[in-house]
Amino acid sequence: MRAWNFSAGPATLPEPVLRQAQAEMLEWRDAGASIVELSHRGAEFIEVAQQAEADLRRLLSVPDDYAVLFLQGGATTQQALIPLNFAAPGQTVDYVLSGHWGKTAVKQARPYVAVNIAASSEDGGFRGIPPRAQWQLSPDAAYVHITANETIHGVEFRDVPDVGGVPLVADFSSSIASEPIDVSRYGVIYGGAQKNLGPVGICFVIVRRDLLERAGQPRADILDYRSHAAKESMLNTPPTWNWYMLGLTVKWMLAEGGVEEFARRNARKAALLYAEIDGSGGFYRNEVDPAVRSRMNVPFFLHDEALNKPFLEEAKAAGLIALKGHRALGGMRASIYNAMPEAGVQALADFMREFRRRHG
Ligand SMILES: *Cc1c(COP(=O)(O)O)cnc(C)c1O
Repeated sequence: MRAWNFSAGPATLPEPVLRQAQAEMLEWRDAGASIVELSHRGAEFIEVAQQAEADLRRLLSVPDDYAVLFLQGGATTQQALIPLNFAAPGQTVDYVLSGHWGKTAVKQARPYVAVNIAASSEDGGFRGIPPRAQWQLSPDAAYVHITANETIHGVEFRDVPDVGGVPLVADFSSSIASEPIDVSRYGVIYGGAQKNLGPVGICFVIVRRDLLERAGQPRADILDYRSHAAKESMLNTPPTWNWYMLGLTVKWMLAEGGVEEFARRNARKAALLYAEIDGSGGFYRNEVDPAVRSRMNVPFFLHDEALNKPFLEEAKAAGLIALKGHRALGGMRASIYNAMPEAGVQALADFMREFRRRHG
């Protein structure tokens, strides 16, 4: 039986998507083969690929002057390609750190550029976002990088920071399509699909086309976003199965009512869980500044570490899985992306209340 799966990524997928993939596994439409067995240059896959892009553009209201790329290598590889493509060798780039993934982005960029940490909440344990007024931005930065939602620390930007005319580059791995965003406020939006948009193995890079004209740094063709854009992400063999699954997931999101509807559901889901934590009289606690608590990833701790093991065991027995926190933080984490129904979050909140009653 399928449990309520709170995995941070790869994460739960919508059941109708899995069922459709199952039904089409042996033969896609009347192609005589599964979609994953056909050439990426054939009419069948081209249709799947183009439909997925058109649907993602519709879901996110992506303006025409932005290219949408589907690439491999995970979000981490994009974190290296971004300085290679958008900054000159040794040029200054600004990074704002609000959690673990901002630090990985810096690590990937350092060999190529002069990274300025414009602001960081690390001293406070990444429990908030440094106030915009304290950011030390460089006047000549090639771009400003932020992590829209920090998947491990559970810290999320709740509005788009004003960085003047410098392109804003945002890692949206774990919050893409969770609510409406104004794409035109960003130069680049990127992420891996495996949190909120489909299976692992494929990334999205949404990039304002004028940025593709930047010279960047010497790099191989395969590392060049311009080449991928010119070849519609088929410079080499793309991850066809993942692209197909992403397409099904995006179609499902559109059919459910799009990002406006998911924004409402996600707000209700997060409110339910945080209320359970905050109302537990200290039995559970979340340490993030309430103004920037993530709607997607809810890390929490039990007041007594010795209860961690029974919590996870009893949760599993109750049909709730993958609640163990990231090893960097410990404790618990519930990831409640678009594909997690409200009933799943309700089941978790009910379990938490019952567990507290028994062990409090
Ligand atoms: C998961 C995650 C990454 C890393 O993604 P990979 O696909 O494993 O490279 C980067 N940034 C954020 C915000 C993430 O959630």
